[in-house]
Amino acid sequence: MATEKIHSTLPVRPRPIQGEAVVGYLMRLAGVNGYNSIRQFGKIFGSFDGLCQALGLTTEERQVLFGPYPSFWGPSVLSNGLMAADFNHSQLRWCPLCLRESAHLLGSWLLKISCVCKRHATWLQEKCPDCGSFQRLDKVNFEICGCGASLAEIRAAGPVADSVYHLSQTVEASIIGNSAFSGFPPLSLPEWLKLISYLGQFTETCQPRKPGKIANMHQLDTASALLLQTSCLLDSWPENFHALLAAIQRQAESEAKTKTRIRDTFGTLYHVLYTDLSAPCFQFLRDEFERYLHEHWWGVVNKRHRAFKPETVAQHPRVTLKQAAKKAGVAPSTVRHFVRAEVIAGNLYTTMAAQKNGLRYCLSPRKNISAASFMCYARWKRYMKILRLLCGPRVNKWMLSRCSGYC
Ligand SMILES: [Zn+2]
Ligand SMILES: [Zn+2]
Repeated sequence: MATEKIHSTLPVRPRPIQGEAVVGYLMRLAGVNGYNSIRQFGKIFGSFDGLCQALGLTTEERQVLFGPYPSFWGPSVLSNGLMAADFNHSQLRWCPLCLRESAHLLGSWLLKISCVCKRHATWLQEKCPDCGSFQRLDKVNFEICGCGASLAEIRAAGPVADSVYHLSQTVEASIIGNSAFSGFPPLSLPEWLKLISYLGQFTETCQPRKPGKIANMHQLDTASALLLQTSCLLDSWPENFHALLAAIQRQAESEAKTKTRIRDTFGTLYHVLYTDLSAPCFQFLRDEFERYLHEHWWGVVNKRHRAFKPETVAQHPRVTLKQAAKKAGVAPSTVRHFVRAEVIAGNLYTTMAAQKNGLRYCLSPRKNISAASFMCYARWKRYMKILRLLCGPRVNKWMLSRCSGYC
């Protein structure tokens, strides 16, 4: 485009500001040059590149902008594996305190998962507090609502909890490169988005039927709830994650006694951990899930559980009565006797198969058995031998009581 034409079309040519949204820059450009809508640029310039060339933006100046350009120029080419669907295209979010300091829109505010201002540690806004309307992204004056209220002058929202702020900062830092949250493995921005949108849907009282299908991520309420829940789970790791697993397990067991499979009991969360978030970068979730099973899953874990790590299968402390008897070379009735005498912890449970084949026990070593409960040393020694065979070398540590007199 000829220089004279540019001068007449865009006489005022502001430069991009670090981190500014592409759309926000176009709004600013349109506003200072007297345009009513950024759509008019679509008619004047054939592409975003064409506009940048016309403005004489250097590569460095273009690189400070972040986010997709308007769809009238076709699909945007985004860095870091981001997709256009990760951004808000219709509604604006903003921090009034930031707008007061400098009238420009940050590109990070356009990310659907972005809910917190990293400079002021407050929730972003999406509605005018005077008239309650959302602020559309296709208007030109992003500082004033249609009702006349100044979006910079409204009161900022309250401060966010430290854990939410910390997670939000970590996510924003991953715009530039992989970033880690409190000792977790570093993740890229698309990985963070995936983790938050899947894991954030699970609470102790509510689990999604179809995880990952979130209809209203462009709304602040939805996105902030996901961010809040993920930060809660990651912040007190792994206590809160274990509490979630325990709640799901309790709920499944109360609903149907026939839910004896791990996959059925943990339902959609199991699917999320082993399918939706199956990438190696999310292994820390599966590790903690399998650690939980080691402690709290009353059933057996065996080679049929192919998704689990081999160590999880090998180290699981529970075996069936039949397996235990075989391992110790004694009759199942002897093992059952141990269970009745409370020397070995045994859970009696019923499976669909067991309804046909009789009842089934699951066994694990008890930790606090006193040898004093045995009537004589010889008898205790014989029991110890069988127990070692049943429960492995841990028996020595767990089963000998200091007050027994046999240590
Ligand atoms: Zn701010
Ligand atoms: Zn308003």
